[in-house]
Amino acid sequence: MNTKQETRANATTAVFGSEKMLTPAPTQNIPQHKTTPEIAYQMVKDETYPQTQPRLNLATFVTTYMDEYATRLMNEAINVNYIDETEYPRVAVMCGRCINIIANMWNSPEKAEWKTGALGIGSSEACMLGGVAAWLRWRAKRKAEGKPFDKPNLVMSSAFQVVWEKFCQLWQIEMRTVPLTLEKPTLDPKDALAMCDENTICIVPIAGVTWTGLNDDIEALDHELDAYNKKTGYDIPIHVDAASGGFILPFLNPEVKWDFRLKWVWSISTSGHKYGLVYPGLGWVVWKDKKYLPEEMSFSVNYLGANITQVGLNFSRPAAQILGQYYNFIRLGFDGYKEVQQNSMDVACYCHEQIGKMKCFENYSKELQNPLFIWYMNPEYDKTAKWTLYDLQAVLQQSGWMVPAYTMPKNIDSLVVMRVVVRQGMSRDMADMLLSDIGNAVAGFEKLKYPTQSRLDYEAKVKQKGRVFTH
Ligand SMILES: *Cc1c(COP(=O)(O)O)cnc(C)c1O
Repeated sequence: MNTKQETRANATTAVFGSEKMLTPAPTQNIPQHKTTPEIAYQMVKDETYPQTQPRLNLATFVTTYMDEYATRLMNEAINVNYIDETEYPRVAVMCGRCINIIANMWNSPEKAEWKTGALGIGSSEACMLGGVAAWLRWRAKRKAEGKPFDKPNLVMSSAFQVVWEKFCQLWQIEMRTVPLTLEKPTLDPKDALAMCDENTICIVPIAGVTWTGLNDDIEALDHELDAYNKKTGYDIPIHVDAASGGFILPFLNPEVKWDFRLKWVWSISTSGHKYGLVYPGLGWVVWKDKKYLPEEMSFSVNYLGANITQVGLNFSRPAAQILGQYYNFIRLGFDGYKEVQQNSMDVACYCHEQIGKMKCFENYSKELQNPLFIWYMNPEYDKTAKWTLYDLQAVLQQSGWMVPAYTMPKNIDSLVVMRVVVRQGMSRDMADMLLSDIGNAVAGFEKLKYPTQSRLDYEAKVKQKGRVFTH
């Protein structure tokens, strides 16, 4: 093959008439030669061509729909680096305004004109920052008291999102988890406190548990913790991981106390790119007051044209998401956010109800607290079924849906569940299409003469471990 000629594809070369389209895509080394932008574009685009349509991806919590103006704004800012605050000072101001708006939405008592918070690339970075702040505060206090500070621990439920495992591993903090059970599907405050001691840097309840869609009872935790702190003389605080709930509770359940109205909630994190309704990646963390953000976490750099203070793990980061968040606040306002979240909730409740009516399924919880829910196979049906939820996942994928099946956290990890996350962009009509695809898939499974491979694997496991449901 004449590689020279191939690389000299010119403007008249038809994309699919080029030699490039006959050569394997680079996997190890950078190609020696150039090609035209049209050909390069086509090759990259086609790599992603058979993937799920993002809006049919019901596995993710992350935004897959924004309106045209938001998309335009974000695309126009695609070349702006957030960190260059001197060059793009209005972006920094906009970021501060977003933090103010979110802090006030969470009932921050802070009086300052600019509330104390930071942006992250997602909740993960925001959680890390909240966790690090808790650890440094604890350490400073221990040092001041002349006590050892080498064995910090953190307490949360076993239904933690993986970021907390990362945080604990990277900062070498002992992770103490309260196991979930079918009877106690959220963090039990008494169980959590039983794991605390003088080395506990914070307790992390979750608003919008990734695994189940439920909320930990943060008000009850705060109440119990207050008594516990009084009794012991500790001052263990709460960091709320509100990755999903941070943008649901203020709109749909403003009466529920989970935020800075509670005494021991000193920091809260959320994902701007989940129910904040912005494309990825955007997260936010807010502290109750400046005094809860340790000074060591602020870094100043002077080479951008002014002295700039930053809190964050990353240095450079895209600015477009901030424009998207601020646009949403202006475009939707409180009422608009409430309507969008309520629609997601109503569509989720509708799916929940319909799934609950199918004899092969059972919902994990009766009520929804966030626009997502999980279900499992009805235990009676399960005894004779020739298929599993993994088979259902695979069949739904054929019509473009991504509806994940997975096992629950340790202790109840032999329970296989399926989850649907409803977000902006999922209408009642789409829900009907999904439900009809589920119905057709089940009808197909019921005609099976022999069990699927996935069923055989499952039965083998059941033989070893037993079914979760013994009735
Ligand atoms: C999604 C999620 C995270 C991680 O958030 P990212 O924005 O994906 O980094 C952390 N905690 C909970 C409870 C989550 O749902």
